[in-house]
Amino acid sequence: MTQQPIDILARPMRDLRISVTDRCNLRCTYCMPAEIFDKDHAFLPRGEILSYEEIVRLARIFVGLGVKKLRITGGEPTLRRDLPGLIAQLRAIEGVEDVALTTNGLLLTKLATHLRAAGLDRLTVSLDSLDDAIFGRINGRGVHVQAVLDGIAAAEAAGFERLKINMVVQRSVNDHEVVSMAKHFKNTGHIVRFIEFMDVGTTNGWRMDLVVPARDVIARIGAEMPLEPIDPNYRGEVAARYRYKDGMGEIGIISSVTVPFCGTCNRARLSAKGELFTCLFAGRGNDLRALLRNGTSDAGIEAAVRTIWTKRDDRYSEIRTALTAGGAGSKRVEMSYIGG
Ligand code: SAM
Ligand code: SF4
Ligand code: SF4
Repeated sequence: MTQQPIDILARPMRDLRISVTDRCNLRCTYCMPAEIFDKDHAFLPRGEILSYEEIVRLARIFVGLGVKKLRITGGEPTLRRDLPGLIAQLRAIEGVEDVALTTNGLLLTKLATHLRAAGLDRLTVSLDSLDDAIFGRINGRGVHVQAVLDGIAAAEAAGFERLKINMVVQRSVNDHEVVSMAKHFKNTGHIVRFIEFMDVGTTNGWRMDLVVPARDVIARIGAEMPLEPIDPNYRGEVAARYRYKDGMGEIGIISSVTVPFCGTCNRARLSAKGELFTCLFAGRGNDLRALLRNGTSDAGIEAAVRTIWTKRDDRYSEIRTALTAGGAGSKRVEMSYIGG
């Protein structure tokens, strides 16, 4: 086995998040605001997007460099044709321990059994509110809560257990719902993960005062349903875990803004057009598609990725305060482009 690269801050590469499309059937205000991602927005033409063959080839190279977990994301990954076909190929790569998918859940009623049959290990479904009016406003398309709950039910019926339910918490938008969301999924085996609203991209109108600190979310839920912290499942786990003292399940909290976790960040991200990003907040990626398409050998691509990772010193969330104090508006990649 070749030696695995370690970055400047001594972090190995363990997770690869693969965005398979920049398109989406929703327009969440915090991710792809409808005024900006409108009918005139230029999404990537098909030829610009990596083919499944190219994605699998890259995934194999990354696994050779230490990656063990793959997460498929987007945009909305279920919009890509024959997603189960991709999952099956990724799952078959030797050394891959886990393949997960993040989705808004709308197409799971059609796809869940096929995804399960393809070998998908885990599913994360995003749901920001249980109130139709609020959810419709957040998702920018007036889509009802039931559509996502139906997707979750389809996933359960297909045999997926312990789903993660992602809720992005925004002050005065949906923060009054953190307790009801926790209650709704308590004792279902699923794990709600409350995510601090992040300043990804430059179009979502992020302001620090819209961020509800993770500690406040825990306090609000804990006041009604007592909680206790539990150990992470593994080093580098993004969500801090809490369980209900009555034994009825657990929740997660992702405090990327108020308590950054860059020190253990072992995630690489591949955009739909084949750029490698070493941080969610990076201004630009490294073009691997050019290498895929100009005849570079696997060994050549592996050497390029190794060099990129070895030079990595990203820790944006830890230095955010200093950076934003100097004036916002710096160029950052959009979330829908690299998938969170
Ligand atoms: N479309 C899929 C979905 O919504 O699950 C996958 C892509 S989406 C970019 C991945 C995750 O990022 C979702 O759970 C979404 O809520 C989260 N996300 C997007 N923008 C965010 C932001 N500004 N702050 C925090 N989380 C965000
Ligand atoms: Fe689409 Fe997911 Fe972004 Fe919402 S969070 S706009 S569902 S990519
Ligand atoms: Fe990783 Fe960048 Fe997020 Fe820090 S800010 S945890 S380095 S993605």
